[in-house]
Amino acid sequence: MKTLQELTRPNIWKLKPYSSARDEYKGATASVFLDANENPYNSPHNRYPDPMQRDLKALLAKQKKVDTARVFLGNGSDEAIDLVFRVFCEPDRDNVVAIDPTYGMYQVCAEVNNVEYRKVLLDDDFQFSADALLAATDERTKLIFVCSPNNPTGNDLNHAEIERLVRAFDGLVVLDEAYNDFSDQPSFLARLDELPNLIVLQTFSKAWGCAGIRLGMAFASEEIIALMNKIKYPYNVNQLTQGEAISMLHRHYEIERWVRTLKEERECLERAFGRLPCTVKLFPSNANFFLARVTDAVGIYNYLVGEGIIVRNRHTVSLCRDCLRVTVGTRLENDKLIEALKRYNA
Ligand SMILES: *Cc1c(COP(=O)(O)O)cnc(C)c1O
Repeated sequence: MKTLQELTRPNIWKLKPYSSARDEYKGATASVFLDANENPYNSPHNRYPDPMQRDLKALLAKQKKVDTARVFLGNGSDEAIDLVFRVFCEPDRDNVVAIDPTYGMYQVCAEVNNVEYRKVLLDDDFQFSADALLAATDERTKLIFVCSPNNPTGNDLNHAEIERLVRAFDGLVVLDEAYNDFSDQPSFLARLDELPNLIVLQTFSKAWGCAGIRLGMAFASEEIIALMNKIKYPYNVNQLTQGEAISMLHRHYEIERWVRTLKEERECLERAFGRLPCTVKLFPSNANFFLARVTDAVGIYNYLVGEGIIVRNRHTVSLCRDCLRVTVGTRLENDKLIEALKRYNA
C-alpha cells in the first residue's frame, strides 16, 4: 500500500478544518451555552447537533465491535462515497476503477468530481476477478469500488477474491456492504485491522428500515476516518437523525426479525416468479431484492406502472438486458405483483 499521504490530495492533507463552537467546547459540566449564536428558546431543536455524533457512535461501535475512531457517519452512504472522491482523487488527474454493473452513485460522484471512472465488466455469473480490476489500474488509480452483495445483480461477490484484491492493490478499496445484513457471508468489518487500505460502507437505509433519516456509515483505519471527518460539513448528521438512529440501535432485535422475514418472502417471491411465463431467468440473490430476466422488460415495466406497481427497469444496464430488479415487499405487496404478472401473460 502507498502511504496515506501519497494517496491523499495535497490540499486536503494540509487542510486545517473548520472548528465549530461545539468542537472547541468538549467539557461535560457547563449548563449555560452562549457560544454558538443559537436561540435559547425552542428546545431541543434550538441547539446544534454534536458534530462528531459521539453518543450514536459509542452505541454503534459497541454493536459493530469496532473502535469509535474507525467510524464515519454521514448523510447516507452517498455522502461517504462523495467524500472519498474529495479526499483522495485529484480532479482531471486521478482515476478510480469499479466493477460493472454496480451501484450508480460511484460513477455519478466520479463525474461530479471530474475523476475518470474505469469500469470492468463482471463475468456471466456476476463475479469479478481481482486481476482484471488490477489490470485496469495505473499509478493514478486511487480507489477501487466493489459492492457485495452487489446492486443491481443481488449476489455476493466472492470473498476470497475481495481479500485478494485488497491485499494486492496499493491504493484504497471501497467495499459497499449496503446489503450485507441479508447475506450469509460475514462482513469485512472484523478484518479492518489486517486490511489498512479497506473502507467498508454500510447504511441504515436497507435492513435497518431507515432510508428516510439519511444515515450512512464508513469504517476504515483511524487515519482514513480522520481525513473524511476533516472535510465533512460540521453538522452533517442532524439531531433528529442521531436520535432516531440511537433508538433503532436499541431495537436491533427488530431488524433481525425483519431480515429473517424478508429473506423468507424473497424465496417465496422467487418461486412464484420462476413459474411465470414472462420469466426467462432468475439470478440468485443474497439481498432484499432480486434481478429477473423477462421476455420484455420495457413492456412489462410499463404494464406494471399502469397497475400501480413500480419495479426497477435495468434493461439498459450492462449485462442486464431485459432485466427487472424487484425489491421484496410485504406478503400483500408481493402477491399483488405476482397476480398482476399472471394477468400480463393471460
Ligand atoms: C441503497 C444503497 C446504498 C444506500 O445509500 P444511502 O445513501 O445510505 O441511502 C448504498 N450502496 C448501495 C449499493 C445501495 O444499493
